[in-house]
Amino acid sequence: MVSFLELKKINDSFEPNISGAIKRVLDSGWYLLGNEAKSFENEFAFFIGTKHCIGVANGLDALRLILKAYMEMGQMKEGDEIIVPANTYIASILAITDNRLVPILVEPDLNSYNLDISLIERHITDRTRAIMVVHLYGQVCWSSELEGIAARHNLKIIEDNAQAAGAYYGLKHTGSLGNAAGHSFYPGKNLGALGDAGAVTTDDDDLADTIRAIANYGSKEKYKNLYKGLNSRLDEFQAAILREKLPRLDADNQRRREIAQYYIDNINHPDIILPGLGSSEVKDQSPAPHKLPVRSTVLRALSHIWHLFVIRTENRDDLQKYLMVNEVQTLIHYPIAPHKQLAYKEWNHILLPLTELIHNTVLSLPMSPLMNDLEAEYVVKILNSYNHDPH
Ligand SMILES: *Cc1c(COP(=O)(O)O)cnc(C)c1O
Repeated sequence: MVSFLELKKINDSFEPNISGAIKRVLDSGWYLLGNEAKSFENEFAFFIGTKHCIGVANGLDALRLILKAYMEMGQMKEGDEIIVPANTYIASILAITDNRLVPILVEPDLNSYNLDISLIERHITDRTRAIMVVHLYGQVCWSSELEGIAARHNLKIIEDNAQAAGAYYGLKHTGSLGNAAGHSFYPGKNLGALGDAGAVTTDDDDLADTIRAIANYGSKEKYKNLYKGLNSRLDEFQAAILREKLPRLDADNQRRREIAQYYIDNINHPDIILPGLGSSEVKDQSPAPHKLPVRSTVLRALSHIWHLFVIRTENRDDLQKYLMVNEVQTLIHYPIAPHKQLAYKEWNHILLPLTELIHNTVLSLPMSPLMNDLEAEYVVKILNSYNHDPH
C-alpha cells in the first residue's frame, strides 16, 4: 500500500531528537511561556523573515487573533468585509465570521487553485478592510498586481500560510509578504507538531504586542486585563519538538518537489488534469497543460512546496476507488465547499461554479518527504493504466 502520508514514519525519522526535546521540557519543569516557545518564536521569525513570531495554540487561532487584534486596535470593526478565496479550507473563513466580520467569497483561478487576483477589485466596497490570501496546497498566491490593489485601496493583506511553510515568492518566504500571516503546525502540515500548534508572523510591533496580550487572556501584565482575551498559547512540548523539525523543512520540501516533478513528467492520462503551477497571469480556463511548457512555470515549481499534489478528473470517485483497490491511498481536499456547508446555510444558494467544480473533481495523490522512488513510480503506473468504464 502506498499511503497518503506516513506520519508516524516521518516523526520516527526525527528520533532521537523528538525524545530529547520532550526530555528537555520534562527536565525544565516549565510548561507554558518558557524558553522553548521563546526560542522557537525567534527561530521561526528568522526562518520566515519577519520581526515577530507569536506562538499560539493552532492555525485557526492564529488567523482569528490577527483579525481580533486589528479590531482591538480600531483598524477593523464588526461588519467590515474581508476578501477570501471561496475554495479555501473552511478555517480561513471561520476566523473571519468568528470575529463578526464578513467574508467576501471570491472564485479561484482554475489553473493554480488560488484566489483569482484579477477578480478582487470588483468585490471591493467601502467596508473592505483586508484581503486574506491562502497559499493553498503549498502554492504561493501573490503578485505585484495584488500588492498594487492593496496599496490603492488601503487594504491589509493577511496570509493564510497554513499549507505553505517554506514556500518562496522571489527571495522572500510566504508569511513575510503581507501585513501578517497565520501558520499551522497541525501534525499533517509540512512543518507538523505532535498535536495542535500555530503561530502568527508580522513586522508590525503594535499588532504583535496586541496579539500576544489577547492570546494570554488579554493581559500584558499578570492579573491586569486590557482586552477580552482568549487563551491560545504554544506549549513548551510542541515548541521543543518544532525546534527539532524546523531545520529539516527545506530538505523535506525539496523532496516533495522531486516527487511532484516526477508526477508532472510522467502522469499521462487523457482523463487526468495535472496541477497547473499557474498564476493569474496565465488566463487560461482550459485544462492545465500536461507538460511543463515554459521556463516561468519551472521557476514557479521551485517555490511551490507541494503540501498536496492535487489532480482533477471528471470521474473522481471512480478513480479514487480504482486507486484504493490497487493499493494507492488518496484523499479529497476538500469534498464540500465552505458555502455548501450546513454551518453556512445562509450561503448555500450562492453560485460559485469554479469553486464547486474544484470540490467535485479534485483528488490528492500520495505526497510525503519520505516517499521513495519505487512508490512514486508505482502510483504513476497505476494511474496511467486507469481505464474508466462509464457503465
Ligand atoms: C490547517 C489549516 C488551517 C487551520 O490550522 P489548524 O492548525 O488546523 O487550526 C487554516 N487554514 C488552512 C488553509 C489550513 O489548511
